[in-house]
Amino acid sequence: MKGLRPRRAGVHWRQPQPHKTMVATAPLEIPEINPSPRVQEFLSATRPLLINGEWKAAASGETFAVYNPASGAEIAQVAEGGAEDINQAVAAARKVFDDPSHAWNTMTPSERGKLIWKIGDLILEHADELAELESLDNGKPMGVAKVADVPLSADLFHYMAGWATKLEGNTIPISVPYAPGAKFHAFTVREPVGVVGQIIPWNFPLLMAAWKLGPVLATGNCVVLKPAEQTPLTALRLGEILQEAGVPDGVVNIVTGMGETAGAALAAHDDVDKVAFTGSTEVGKMIVNAAAGNLKKVTLELGGKSPNIIFKDTDDLEATIAGAASAIFFNHGQCCCAGSRLYVEKDIFDDVVQGVSAAADAIKLGPGLAADTEMGPLVSDEQLERVTGYMNAGQEAGANCVTGGTRRGDSGYFVSPTVITDARDDMSIVREEIFGPVVVADPFDDPEEIIARGNDSTYGLAAGIWTRDIAKAHRTAARLRAGTVWVNCYNIFDAALPFGGYKQSGWGREMGHEVLDLYTETKAVCLGL
Ligand code: ADP
Repeated sequence: MKGLRPRRAGVHWRQPQPHKTMVATAPLEIPEINPSPRVQEFLSATRPLLINGEWKAAASGETFAVYNPASGAEIAQVAEGGAEDINQAVAAARKVFDDPSHAWNTMTPSERGKLIWKIGDLILEHADELAELESLDNGKPMGVAKVADVPLSADLFHYMAGWATKLEGNTIPISVPYAPGAKFHAFTVREPVGVVGQIIPWNFPLLMAAWKLGPVLATGNCVVLKPAEQTPLTALRLGEILQEAGVPDGVVNIVTGMGETAGAALAAHDDVDKVAFTGSTEVGKMIVNAAAGNLKKVTLELGGKSPNIIFKDTDDLEATIAGAASAIFFNHGQCCCAGSRLYVEKDIFDDVVQGVSAAADAIKLGPGLAADTEMGPLVSDEQLERVTGYMNAGQEAGANCVTGGTRRGDSGYFVSPTVITDARDDMSIVREEIFGPVVVADPFDDPEEIIARGNDSTYGLAAGIWTRDIAKAHRTAARLRAGTVWVNCYNIFDAALPFGGYKQSGWGREMGHEVLDLYTETKAVCLGL
């Protein structure tokens, strides 16, 4: 279909494929909005790779198209990095890391902290431009990018700046039973892991780059970052900001390209010491396999199918309903922690379903750049097919679509926010991550039984609980197998709060001081006195 982003699964990504959406399409007027001159200028030139401080074309000379998901129209061409570019970027990062006299390695922790702080400041200085670029590339409302994605990205760098001076080891009194009378002075130091490969997704392109690069810089590592092919633009703009802040050449390299080529080459590279990945559980497993060659360290932030549990004694039903709607519809449901399984105690089930459905119906769909848009398009044609495919599957399996369940408009990748009831626990819409604005609601009777149902998932990323009974809240939170449990709130993120998954939702944590452990090695030094 002309203008729509071609699918990439199983075939070369740019091979046009027929569009297979089967759900009904409801009309949607989509105004055309031109980006600002500043953003147009950024988009007017083919965006190159950042390797060793130089902006350069891919070794192959290839480029790929980036699309506006609100219209399906091409907005930019970006260098398509491949294995050769990954090799060059890893070599650049390695050269810096291995040179003790390099400016990056002689910089004091305090200087490094100030540099990282400056990145946060520059992000805020360019907030409007970054929000606009993010909205155009990803489809999210610009207003949301301005109050969430951009300030959270800046805050992550500001938070991490403080850690550069606080990466301490311990002094350890040791006994050594086989050396009676001997004296030792033993201590640990925290050292950077080395060259890190980072692969990020398209749902929060700038923020995911910040989550990844912040700890890399705080701990003194060097990095090759591969943004998602759907949304490479803000990471490339961030590369310019890093240079403006004074990050030395070769410390941060950015290689745009496809997952199956550039991403796979980075994950498998023998000279990469650690790979950090955020994306689907399916690709996460491939990363683990690729990393086995040199046993590089691996951290993964993967999918979810998070239970959001509302007890009948919830404090304020109206606020709870708004919270449950936002838990699934924020960022068009394209959140790994989306509250996609909504469990509601029977007495208030009808009220909650009605309220969440009314909230869904009231959401104003439109292009991200329109000031009154509350929900933009899904990110891509592939994602549109995925989400509408689940809508079909649910309806075919006999579930009840209370509202939504349709594609909206016939250009761009819009779908209606959707509420489904009467689904069985074995249906794909209940078990699998949809990554779209689709919530499956189900009533429960027994506050004990609901914990087991909440945990009945291969995932364990997040969970929500709504109750005014504080003991029940603690009891339930303690038993939910999830990396984050929100009580009487949802989707609350902070640079200081660790985020990551139990079970197949991942390995390790992003943010907080926990992430720093995953970017450092601990060296034990023992001196005989
Ligand atoms: P989605 O399916 O939602 O697009 P993915 O997990 O496929 O999410 O993508 C997340 C990131 O992983 C992207 O940067 C993508 O390019 C990358 N990626 C995809 N496939 C691979 C792979 N085989 N090896 C390494 N990276 C990959």
